[in-house]
Amino acid sequence: MKQSLASKITPRNALDSFKTICAKTGIKATHQRLQIYDEMVKANDHPTAEILFERLREAMPTLSLDTVYRTLATFEQHHIIKRVKTDRHKTRYEAKMNRHHHFICQECETITDFNWSSFDKDKLPEEVQRLGTIIDHSITVSGICRDCTTNRD
Ligand SMILES: [Zn+2]
Ligand SMILES: [Zn+2]
Repeated sequence: MKQSLASKITPRNALDSFKTICAKTGIKATHQRLQIYDEMVKANDHPTAEILFERLREAMPTLSLDTVYRTLATFEQHHIIKRVKTDRHKTRYEAKMNRHHHFICQECETITDFNWSSFDKDKLPEEVQRLGTIIDHSITVSGICRDCTTNRD
């Protein structure tokens, strides 16, 4: 799998990295994009465009939800952020580009990252490889998170 430019970014160096990414991908590092990207890097909850918009609204009063949609789409296209696969209607995004897996709570829809290094090192079964070109292989575990389980009792 092609390693993304954005794979080793922490909030602290996010802005510098963003400029580098923009220079390499040829997209313009506008102030708005920079702020949206910064918010994405800070978020570890895999937000939707709407949630991101709510968070940015105060600091960016002229921002529109449409701009957020378009910016996220541009980022995704350039592998600066990625879409999290869920079975829900709303698209969730993340800026964490290194390989990891997701636990998704079916009740509160919280998405939690986890690592599984032995899985990552393993080759996919021949059977899968014969099906076509593999673009990504990551695991989604669904369940009921601990908070929701506790609240049920
Ligand atoms: Zn939950
Ligand atoms: Zn994630």
